[in-house]
Amino acid sequence: LAQLFRPLDLLGMVYRTIRQGAIDMGSMFELIDTPAEVVDAPDATPLLVTRGHVRFEGVRFGYDEDRPILDGLDLDVPAGTTCAVVGASGAGKSTLARLLYRFYDVNEGRITIDGQPVAAVTQASLRAAIGIVPQDTVLFNDTIGYNIAYGREGASDAEVARAAQGAAIAPFIERQPDGYDTRVGERGLKLSGGEKQRVAIARTLVKNPPILILDEATSALDSRTEADILETLESVERGRTTIVIAHRLSTVIHADQIVVLDAGRVAERGTHAELLRRGGLYAGMWARQAREREEALAAE
Ligand code: ADP
Ligand code: MG
Repeated sequence: LAQLFRPLDLLGMVYRTIRQGAIDMGSMFELIDTPAEVVDAPDATPLLVTRGHVRFEGVRFGYDEDRPILDGLDLDVPAGTTCAVVGASGAGKSTLARLLYRFYDVNEGRITIDGQPVAAVTQASLRAAIGIVPQDTVLFNDTIGYNIAYGREGASDAEVARAAQGAAIAPFIERQPDGYDTRVGERGLKLSGGEKQRVAIARTLVKNPPILILDEATSALDSRTEADILETLESVERGRTTIVIAHRLSTVIHADQIVVLDAGRVAERGTHAELLRRGGLYAGMWARQAREREEALAAE
Protein backbone atom coordinates (compact mmCIF):
# COMPACT_ATOMS: atom_id res chain seq x y z
CA LEU A 1 0.00 0.00 0.00
CA ALA A 2 2.92 2.34 0.75
CA GLN A 3 3.62 2.32 -2.98
CA LEU A 4 0.48 4.31 -3.52
CA PHE A 5 1.78 7.28 -1.63
CA ARG A 6 4.85 7.82 -3.77
CA PRO A 7 4.56 11.07 -5.70
CA LEU A 8 5.11 9.42 -9.06
CA ASP A 9 2.40 6.88 -8.51
CA LEU A 10 0.22 9.65 -7.33
CA LEU A 11 0.76 11.62 -10.52
CA GLY A 12 0.01 8.50 -12.48
CA MET A 13 -3.20 8.20 -10.54
CA VAL A 14 -4.13 11.80 -11.20
CA TYR A 15 -3.50 11.30 -14.87
CA ARG A 16 -5.49 8.10 -15.08
CA THR A 17 -8.27 9.57 -13.03
CA ILE A 18 -8.54 12.60 -15.24
CA ARG A 19 -8.50 10.39 -18.31
CA GLN A 20 -11.21 8.17 -16.96
CA GLY A 21 -13.09 10.97 -15.31
CA ALA A 22 -14.27 8.21 -13.04
CA ILE A 23 -13.62 9.39 -9.53
CA ASP A 24 -14.31 12.71 -7.93
CA MET A 25 -10.99 14.17 -6.98
CA GLY A 26 -11.19 17.82 -6.10
CA SER A 27 -7.73 17.95 -4.66
CA MET A 28 -4.70 16.00 -3.63
CA PHE A 29 -6.23 15.89 -0.19
CA GLU A 30 -9.10 13.90 -1.57
CA LEU A 31 -6.87 11.75 -3.65
CA ILE A 32 -4.12 10.80 -1.28
CA ASP A 33 -4.95 7.93 1.01
CA THR A 34 -8.25 6.96 -0.55
CA PRO A 35 -8.37 3.35 0.47
CA ALA A 36 -10.60 0.85 -1.25
CA GLU A 37 -11.90 -0.59 2.01
CA VAL A 38 -14.37 2.19 2.71
CA VAL A 39 -17.64 1.22 1.08
CA ASP A 40 -21.23 2.30 1.54
CA ALA A 41 -23.20 0.28 4.07
CA PRO A 42 -25.80 -1.90 2.31
CA ASP A 43 -28.57 0.16 3.90
CA ALA A 44 -26.79 3.52 3.50
CA THR A 45 -29.07 6.52 3.10
CA PRO A 46 -28.21 9.98 1.81
CA LEU A 47 -26.94 12.39 4.42
CA LEU A 48 -29.53 14.99 5.24
CA VAL A 49 -27.82 18.16 6.42
CA THR A 50 -30.34 20.18 8.34
CA ARG A 51 -27.99 22.49 10.23
CA GLY A 52 -24.47 21.14 9.91
CA HIS A 53 -23.69 20.09 13.47
CA VAL A 54 -20.46 18.06 13.49
CA ARG A 55 -19.48 15.78 16.37
CA PHE A 56 -16.59 13.44 17.09
CA GLU A 57 -17.37 11.14 20.01
CA GLY A 58 -14.59 9.10 21.58
CA VAL A 59 -12.89 8.60 18.22
CA ARG A 60 -9.99 6.19 18.13
CA PHE A 61 -8.06 5.69 14.96
CA GLY A 62 -4.65 4.52 13.76
CA TYR A 63 -3.35 3.80 10.27
CA ASP A 64 -1.67 0.80 11.88
CA GLU A 65 -3.24 -1.20 14.67
CA ASP A 66 -0.28 -0.71 16.98
CA ARG A 67 0.09 3.04 16.60
CA PRO A 68 -2.99 5.05 17.53
CA ILE A 69 -3.12 8.54 16.01
CA LEU A 70 -6.38 9.65 17.60
CA ASP A 71 -6.94 8.19 21.01
CA GLY A 72 -10.37 9.12 22.30
CA LEU A 73 -11.05 12.38 20.49
CA ASP A 74 -14.12 14.41 21.40
CA LEU A 75 -15.08 17.39 19.30
CA ASP A 76 -18.32 19.30 19.14
CA VAL A 77 -18.69 21.87 16.37
CA PRO A 78 -22.13 23.51 16.58
CA ALA A 79 -23.77 24.36 13.27
CA GLY A 80 -22.41 27.45 11.61
CA THR A 81 -19.45 27.87 13.96
CA THR A 82 -15.74 27.76 13.29
CA CYS A 83 -13.54 25.32 15.14
CA ALA A 84 -9.78 25.62 14.79
CA VAL A 85 -7.59 22.59 15.27
CA VAL A 86 -3.97 23.24 16.13
CA GLY A 87 -1.12 21.08 17.31
CA ALA A 88 2.34 19.91 16.37
CA SER A 89 3.05 18.52 12.94
CA GLY A 90 2.01 14.86 12.94
CA ALA A 91 -0.51 15.38 15.75
CA GLY A 92 -3.33 13.99 13.60
CA LYS A 93 -5.02 17.18 12.39
CA SER A 94 -5.32 16.14 8.76
CA THR A 95 -6.28 12.65 9.88
CA LEU A 96 -9.26 14.10 11.72
CA ALA A 97 -10.37 15.81 8.51
CA ARG A 98 -9.93 12.61 6.50
CA LEU A 99 -12.10 10.75 8.98
CA LEU A 100 -14.88 13.31 8.69
CA TYR A 101 -14.69 12.89 4.92
CA ARG A 102 -14.62 9.16 5.56
CA PHE A 103 -11.44 8.19 3.77
CA TYR A 104 -11.06 5.81 6.66
CA ASP A 105 -13.39 4.30 9.17
CA VAL A 106 -12.74 4.94 12.84
CA ASN A 107 -11.65 2.05 15.03
CA GLU A 108 -13.85 3.14 17.92
CA GLY A 109 -16.34 5.89 18.65
CA ARG A 110 -18.24 7.75 15.97
CA ILE A 111 -18.47 10.88 13.90
CA THR A 112 -21.86 12.38 13.19
CA ILE A 113 -23.29 15.19 11.11
CA ASP A 114 -26.66 16.34 12.40
CA GLY A 115 -26.84 13.09 14.34
CA GLN A 116 -26.20 10.82 11.37
CA PRO A 117 -23.03 8.70 11.61
CA VAL A 118 -20.80 9.32 8.58
CA ALA A 119 -20.36 5.55 8.32
CA ALA A 120 -24.10 5.10 7.80
CA VAL A 121 -24.68 7.55 4.95
CA THR A 122 -23.71 7.29 1.30
CA GLN A 123 -20.21 8.51 0.54
CA ALA A 124 -21.46 10.56 -2.39
CA SER A 125 -23.87 12.53 -0.20
CA LEU A 126 -21.27 12.93 2.54
CA ARG A 127 -18.65 14.30 0.18
CA ALA A 128 -21.13 16.59 -1.53
CA ALA A 129 -21.76 18.20 1.86
CA ILE A 130 -18.12 18.89 2.67
CA GLY A 131 -15.81 21.33 0.90
CA ILE A 132 -12.08 21.18 1.39
CA VAL A 133 -9.48 23.84 0.70
CA PRO A 134 -6.13 22.07 0.99
CA GLN A 135 -2.65 23.50 1.42
CA ASP A 136 -1.69 22.90 -2.18
CA THR A 137 -4.36 23.07 -4.79
CA VAL A 138 -4.08 20.97 -7.90
CA LEU A 139 -5.05 22.85 -11.02
CA PHE A 140 -5.90 21.01 -14.19
CA ASN A 141 -4.28 21.83 -17.50
CA ASP A 142 -7.47 23.43 -18.69
CA THR A 143 -9.16 26.81 -18.57
CA ILE A 144 -9.47 28.78 -15.38
CA GLY A 145 -13.24 28.59 -15.78
CA TYR A 146 -13.09 24.80 -15.91
CA ASN A 147 -10.93 24.75 -12.81
CA ILE A 148 -13.54 26.71 -10.87
CA ALA A 149 -16.55 24.89 -12.31
CA TYR A 150 -14.93 21.66 -11.19
CA GLY A 151 -16.38 22.36 -7.74
CA ARG A 152 -19.74 21.05 -8.86
CA GLU A 153 -20.86 19.21 -11.95
CA GLY A 154 -23.16 21.31 -14.06
CA ALA A 155 -22.16 24.69 -12.62
CA SER A 156 -23.23 27.48 -14.97
CA ASP A 157 -21.01 30.29 -16.24
CA ALA A 158 -22.90 32.72 -14.04
CA GLU A 159 -22.27 30.58 -10.97
CA VAL A 160 -18.58 30.36 -11.84
CA ALA A 161 -18.36 34.13 -12.22
CA ARG A 162 -20.16 34.66 -8.91
CA ALA A 163 -17.80 32.24 -7.16
CA ALA A 164 -14.79 34.01 -8.66
CA GLN A 165 -16.17 37.24 -7.28
CA GLY A 166 -16.61 35.74 -3.82
CA ALA A 167 -13.05 34.44 -3.91
CA ALA A 168 -11.78 37.86 -5.06
CA ILE A 169 -10.15 36.42 -8.16
CA ALA A 170 -12.65 37.77 -10.71
CA PRO A 171 -10.79 41.02 -11.48
CA PHE A 172 -7.62 39.05 -12.15
CA ILE A 173 -9.42 36.66 -14.50
CA GLU A 174 -11.19 39.46 -16.32
CA ARG A 175 -7.85 41.15 -16.97
CA GLN A 176 -6.69 38.12 -18.99
CA PRO A 177 -7.22 38.42 -22.75
CA ASP A 178 -9.23 35.19 -22.82
CA GLY A 179 -11.01 35.77 -19.50
CA TYR A 180 -12.46 32.58 -18.08
CA ASP A 181 -11.24 30.68 -21.14
CA THR A 182 -7.62 31.44 -20.29
CA ARG A 183 -5.68 28.23 -20.00
CA VAL A 184 -3.66 27.59 -16.85
CA GLY A 185 -0.71 25.32 -16.29
CA GLU A 186 2.14 24.11 -18.45
CA ARG A 187 1.60 26.19 -21.54
CA GLY A 188 -0.87 28.67 -20.12
CA LEU A 189 -1.08 31.18 -17.35
CA LYS A 190 1.19 30.62 -14.37
CA LEU A 191 -0.68 31.35 -11.16
CA SER A 192 1.00 32.46 -7.94
CA GLY A 193 0.36 30.50 -4.76
CA GLY A 194 -2.18 33.06 -3.62
CA GLU A 195 -4.02 33.03 -6.94
CA LYS A 196 -4.17 29.24 -6.88
CA GLN A 197 -5.69 29.31 -3.42
CA ARG A 198 -8.26 31.79 -4.63
CA VAL A 199 -9.18 29.38 -7.42
CA ALA A 200 -9.56 26.68 -4.75
CA ILE A 201 -11.81 28.98 -2.74
CA ALA A 202 -13.89 29.76 -5.83
CA ARG A 203 -14.19 26.04 -6.50
CA THR A 204 -15.50 25.58 -2.98
CA LEU A 205 -17.97 28.44 -3.42
CA VAL A 206 -19.34 26.76 -6.54
CA LYS A 207 -19.82 23.63 -4.49
CA ASN A 208 -21.46 25.70 -1.73
CA PRO A 209 -21.10 23.04 0.97
CA PRO A 210 -22.66 23.45 4.43
CA ILE A 211 -19.46 22.09 5.97
CA LEU A 212 -16.02 23.44 5.21
CA ILE A 213 -12.54 22.15 5.98
CA LEU A 214 -9.53 24.40 5.55
CA ASP A 215 -6.45 22.24 5.93
CA GLU A 216 -3.47 24.58 6.25
CA ALA A 217 -5.07 26.45 3.38
CA THR A 218 -2.77 29.46 3.71
CA SER A 219 0.35 27.89 5.16
CA ALA A 220 2.26 27.87 1.89
CA LEU A 221 1.70 31.60 1.37
CA ASP A 222 3.81 34.53 2.55
CA SER A 223 2.22 36.45 5.40
CA ARG A 224 1.14 39.40 3.25
CA THR A 225 -0.76 37.14 0.82
CA GLU A 226 -2.09 35.14 3.74
CA ALA A 227 -3.53 38.26 5.36
CA ASP A 228 -5.31 39.12 2.09
CA ILE A 229 -6.77 35.65 1.73
CA LEU A 230 -7.83 35.33 5.36
CA GLU A 231 -10.35 38.11 4.83
CA THR A 232 -11.86 36.23 1.91
CA LEU A 233 -11.92 32.99 3.88
CA GLU A 234 -13.71 34.61 6.76
CA SER A 235 -16.53 35.62 4.46
CA VAL A 236 -16.65 32.09 3.00
CA GLU A 237 -16.85 30.61 6.50
CA ARG A 238 -19.87 32.70 7.40
CA GLY A 239 -22.98 30.51 7.70
CA ARG A 240 -21.02 27.26 7.35
CA THR A 241 -19.71 24.83 9.91
CA THR A 242 -15.98 25.19 9.50
CA ILE A 243 -12.96 23.25 10.69
CA VAL A 244 -9.77 25.25 10.27
CA ILE A 245 -6.58 23.28 10.56
CA ALA A 246 -3.65 25.58 11.03
CA HIS A 247 -0.08 25.62 12.03
CA ARG A 248 0.24 29.40 12.01
CA LEU A 249 -1.86 30.63 14.91
CA SER A 250 -2.42 34.05 13.37
CA THR A 251 -5.05 32.34 11.23
CA VAL A 252 -7.19 30.96 14.08
CA ILE A 253 -7.66 33.96 16.37
CA HIS A 254 -11.22 34.54 15.18
CA ALA A 255 -12.41 30.93 15.67
CA ASP A 256 -15.37 30.28 17.98
CA GLN A 257 -13.34 27.55 19.62
CA ILE A 258 -9.77 26.39 19.32
CA VAL A 259 -8.75 22.86 20.20
CA VAL A 260 -5.18 21.81 20.76
CA LEU A 261 -4.44 18.24 19.69
CA ASP A 262 -1.77 16.46 21.62
CA ALA A 263 -1.09 12.74 21.90
CA GLY A 264 -4.29 11.92 20.04
CA ARG A 265 -6.58 13.84 22.35
CA VAL A 266 -7.86 17.34 22.91
CA ALA A 267 -5.38 18.78 25.38
CA GLU A 268 -6.93 22.26 25.57
CA ARG A 269 -10.00 23.94 24.24
CA GLY A 270 -11.31 27.49 24.37
CA THR A 271 -11.20 30.81 22.59
CA HIS A 272 -7.93 32.51 21.76
CA ALA A 273 -8.23 34.80 24.79
CA GLU A 274 -9.17 31.94 27.12
CA LEU A 275 -6.28 29.81 25.99
CA LEU A 276 -3.79 32.65 26.34
CA ARG A 277 -4.99 33.25 29.90
CA ARG A 278 -4.64 29.59 30.67
CA GLY A 279 -0.91 29.74 30.01
CA GLY A 280 -0.68 26.17 28.69
CA LEU A 281 0.31 24.57 25.39
CA TYR A 282 -1.50 27.12 23.22
CA ALA A 283 -0.06 30.08 25.07
CA GLY A 284 3.40 28.55 24.65
CA MET A 285 2.87 28.06 20.90
CA TRP A 286 1.60 31.62 20.60
CA ALA A 287 4.61 33.09 22.41
CA ARG A 288 6.99 31.06 20.29
CA GLN A 289 5.37 32.15 17.05
CA ALA A 290 5.24 35.78 18.12
CA ARG A 291 8.97 35.61 18.77
CA GLU A 292 9.57 34.07 15.36
CA ARG A 293 7.52 36.79 13.68
CA GLU A 294 9.58 39.48 15.40
CA GLU A 295 12.82 37.82 14.42
CA ALA A 296 11.65 37.54 10.83
CA LEU A 297 10.70 41.22 10.80
CA ALA A 298 14.04 42.22 12.30
CA ALA A 299 15.84 40.20 9.64
CA GLU A 300 14.05 41.93 6.75
P1 ADP B 1 -0.94 16.59 10.98
O1 ADP B 1 -1.92 16.95 9.92
O2 ADP B 1 -1.36 16.99 12.36
O3 ADP B 1 0.44 17.10 10.70
P2 ADP B 1 -1.49 13.86 10.11
O4 ADP B 1 -2.88 13.70 10.50
O5 ADP B 1 -1.21 14.12 8.67
O6 ADP B 1 -0.80 15.00 11.02
O7 ADP B 1 -0.65 12.59 10.53
C1 ADP B 1 -0.69 12.05 11.83
C2 ADP B 1 0.25 10.88 11.91
O8 ADP B 1 -0.21 9.84 11.07
C3 ADP B 1 1.68 11.18 11.46
O9 ADP B 1 2.56 10.50 12.32
C4 ADP B 1 1.74 10.62 10.08
O10 ADP B 1 3.03 10.21 9.78
C5 ADP B 1 0.78 9.44 10.15
N1 ADP B 1 0.13 9.19 8.84
C6 ADP B 1 -0.51 10.09 8.08
N2 ADP B 1 -1.03 9.52 6.96
C7 ADP B 1 -0.68 8.20 7.03
C8 ADP B 1 -0.90 7.07 6.18
N3 ADP B 1 -1.59 7.18 5.05
N4 ADP B 1 -0.40 5.89 6.57
C9 ADP B 1 0.31 5.78 7.72
N5 ADP B 1 0.54 6.78 8.55
C10 ADP B 1 0.07 8.00 8.23
MG1 MG C 1 -1.77 18.01 8.12
